[in-house]
Amino acid sequence: MTQPDTPDLACPLCGCQDFDRQQSRQDSMWGFSSHVMTLLVCRRCTYVLHFYGGNSIWNID
Ligand SMILES: [Zn+2]
Repeated sequence: MTQPDTPDLACPLCGCQDFDRQQSRQDSMWGFSSHVMTLLVCRRCTYVLHFYGGNSIWNID
């Protein structure tokens, strides 16, 4: 699933460019609206890259 305008993203540990995308939501302890984290999990070494919010350039939606 390569998007045209998405720069190549490589794992900083192993250089793999194959990631599983996950989204996680967690409610803040202080009662604000829930935060959305976009996670990219390296398929080779399982290193996890975190992106805050759902609107990064690697946005899924
Ligand atoms: Zn890796």
